[in-house]
Amino acid sequence: MSSNSLFSDAVLAWYHQHGRKHLPWQQNITPYRVWVSEIMLQQTQVSTVIPYFERFMQGFPDVTALAAASQDDVLHHWTGLGYYARGRNLHACAQIISAKYDGEFPQNVDALTELPGIGRSTAGAIASISMGIRAPILDGNVKRVLTRFYAIEGWPGTTTVQNALWQIAEDLTPVHSHREYTQAMMDLGATLCTRSKPACGICPLQPDCAGLKTGKPTQFPNSKPKKEKPEKHTVLLMIEAPDGTLLLLQRPQQGIWGGLWSFPEVKQPDDAIAWVKSHLGLEYKQAELLPSFRHTFSHYHLHIQPLHIQLEQLATAVGEHNDHWYNPDNPSALGLAAPVKELLQALRR
Ligand code: SF4
Repeated sequence: MSSNSLFSDAVLAWYHQHGRKHLPWQQNITPYRVWVSEIMLQQTQVSTVIPYFERFMQGFPDVTALAAASQDDVLHHWTGLGYYARGRNLHACAQIISAKYDGEFPQNVDALTELPGIGRSTAGAIASISMGIRAPILDGNVKRVLTRFYAIEGWPGTTTVQNALWQIAEDLTPVHSHREYTQAMMDLGATLCTRSKPACGICPLQPDCAGLKTGKPTQFPNSKPKKEKPEKHTVLLMIEAPDGTLLLLQRPQQGIWGGLWSFPEVKQPDDAIAWVKSHLGLEYKQAELLPSFRHTFSHYHLHIQPLHIQLEQLATAVGEHNDHWYNPDNPSALGLAAPVKELLQALRR
């Protein structure tokens, strides 16, 4: 028996005894359900994803329903999950599957990876779990297990390490039971070989794990060489009309919070007067700086200074933006940027 099959046999035996088999996306398995769960699980934990997944399936039970929905409705279901490009890509992808493939997912890994937001690992998971196609995966969990088991040096973001890992993942994926193996590897990484406290004592791979033999398995995968994140600043104008509604503008599709709704932005609190004058044709007497806070994106920190402005009369014209007067007591189904949601809740309190 080869060392590869010893590896997969150990992982499968562990999965049959201890793996999770009752997650919502493991029931009524379809390419659609696997795909949505895989996208939601990127950068997000299972416990957080479960209620989002269930609401999403109620709102959009299949790819055709998702394709027919408005982007606002999709992003509304995504509000709070973060990394909104995932939600936008999901929607765009559903529209392509609906138009080009008659509502059926293409049945091979290469065609799947051509769809927006589906990388090689997600394509592998969809193919293996829902289509019976043997295909390797290499998500964050699997990368962690493999880099530790083989004590692989170097940051997995580099092409060399990445290629080596794909080759190993390919070699290890068994011909039979590849669907269970795929689920097992995700599970083992998520529940045993965790980021900071791997449970090596009860791990089926322990006898041959080279990372464990180094005495410090958590050094794998090696981290990305550090780069300081730049600090940026913005002022969010929480402009409240006398009827309690607040002005929101839709963000451009590209850039942070793409397609979501947010407060108007200026550089300095002093710029607010000119903004309100030029966009709403009004002046105001009441404005209050609320406590500032920091929001971190993957590539920079944003210091947010909220400025609460109370208008004395209703505004009519807003200018060229896609705008909406949002009623916090009777909220519309819009995708809101996370800090905007928090600020609206703080204002209500
Ligand atoms: S023995 Fe520890 S480090 Fe190695 S794969 Fe298992 S949990 Fe991860």
